[in-house]
Amino acid sequence: MMKVVLSNVVNGCRVGSITELGRHGNRVLEFPGCLLYTRCGAAPHLTYDVLQKVDGLPTGAQLTLPTLAEQHHVVQDFQQGIGKFTGMEDFFQYCSVQDPAVREATGYNFNKGVSVWGSGGRIKLEVADFMAIQKAFCPDWYQCLCDGDTTSPDTSNKRLRKSVDRTLNFLDECLEIHQKSQELKGSEILGVIEGGDLLEERLRSARETCKRPVAGFVLDGFQSFAMERETRKNLLKAVLEVLPEDKPRIIHAASRPDEVLEAVECGVDLFDSSFPFQVTERGCALVFPFSKRAASDVSDETMIHSLDDSSQETTENQQTRGLNEDTLPQRTMFEIDLNDREKYAWDFRPVLPGCSCYCCQNHSRAYIHHLLQTGELLARVLLMMHNFHHYFGFFTAIRESLQQGTFQELKATVTQSQGTNCK
Ligand SMILES: [Zn+2]
Repeated sequence: MMKVVLSNVVNGCRVGSITELGRHGNRVLEFPGCLLYTRCGAAPHLTYDVLQKVDGLPTGAQLTLPTLAEQHHVVQDFQQGIGKFTGMEDFFQYCSVQDPAVREATGYNFNKGVSVWGSGGRIKLEVADFMAIQKAFCPDWYQCLCDGDTTSPDTSNKRLRKSVDRTLNFLDECLEIHQKSQELKGSEILGVIEGGDLLEERLRSARETCKRPVAGFVLDGFQSFAMERETRKNLLKAVLEVLPEDKPRIIHAASRPDEVLEAVECGVDLFDSSFPFQVTERGCALVFPFSKRAASDVSDETMIHSLDDSSQETTENQQTRGLNEDTLPQRTMFEIDLNDREKYAWDFRPVLPGCSCYCCQNHSRAYIHHLLQTGELLARVLLMMHNFHHYFGFFTAIRESLQQGTFQELKATVTQSQGTNCK
């Protein structure tokens, strides 16, 4: 049976490991940590072999229904589960309802179910459909069907109450099917905390979900764009106080480094890694410092310069590339934009001097810029390798800082590179 072993709790930050995890009871997940973000069950742009070259790989992978639900009859006929189907069975499999990298369309959930958007359009999932997919996939963990359509600022309190009620109803119905299912023996359900920005509903959602036999909790509706950081912090603190300490807490789509550090301080354990994927998709590379060594590497003049003025460029770049915030969130202060000809076309240094990833060891900024300009797929492969490597290293640094009592220093190092105009 899964066990949460807390090795240290410092000012609300939890550090430890989840042991005896998964369908075979032999997995270990360290927290605070992240799950490998996948599309269609595979790491974006990377084959299994290439992925193995990335340091600090999480032991768990996150599957998302929007990229997989349409294939579920094939996986059902395959009969050996989604991990085997995608060649990723070395990873602990966690299936989430929505894709954290994509802003979910609003207004399409209904009393009996939830909509997700696949490549072929809208997929309406009622409890029975949802559970049929889980039986075909046989993930180690899955997020229960939930109504998380609460992120729009004009969501009424009545709608927020409904999100909590519906989600509890889905949980009870799913649990009933789960407990009778042979296929799902060994899989575990995670309950979902909803309620938008209404404290009272968040607490009701947390208290009611705790009463059910769930293996852990997903904190839904805390996406970057959904609320102010102070609101998020206060809600998270209040909700996490209600939840039992011996079950893991996952948050989705709050995976920017500053948000991660704040959520860790509130007591969140697990994050998704959709952020380095989004950075890769816009042709950018993560360069934020998270250790003293990295901080001194970053202090070379060009990089500080590029971090400082990044906000002014964002609008211009987005206009020229025809992107909007919905398809690709704005560039942040944690990255450099390798599409920039003036800065990087003749820059022969690695993406991040001192980085030990495959990309930085073998290639220059000028080369990545060239690959981006010519539309080569290799640009995204190399950027994904670096961005995952950097992001996973960040989580290792968080755990070390909590063990060594240097978390506040880490936080200062990460956030010092940010300007005041960073959202
Ligand atoms: Zn690198």
